[in-house]
Amino acid sequence: MTKELKPAKKRATVRKCPICGHESWRIAYGMMMPDAMAEYSKTEFAGCCLTTEERIYPATGKVEFGIPEWACQNPECRHRWW
Ligand SMILES: [Zn+2]
Repeated sequence: MTKELKPAKKRATVRKCPICGHESWRIAYGMMMPDAMAEYSKTEFAGCCLTTEERIYPATGKVEFGIPEWACQNPECRHRWW
């Protein structure tokens, strides 16, 4: 039995929410096995449903669409952005 390959590097980076300053985690998309999920402690798992969100970019005033990469962990805020 050979051991499974592990991801080369764990990305446990956290960011601060631009709205409330709370800790925010990276959002991971796609199906993952529970043991793989355990490798990533500070990650929010969104499964396979990609939700597009819109924002107004402050510098240009243009509306942009994108898939959020970060999720605020404050239950009263839940801000998602990219
Ligand atoms: Zn927040």
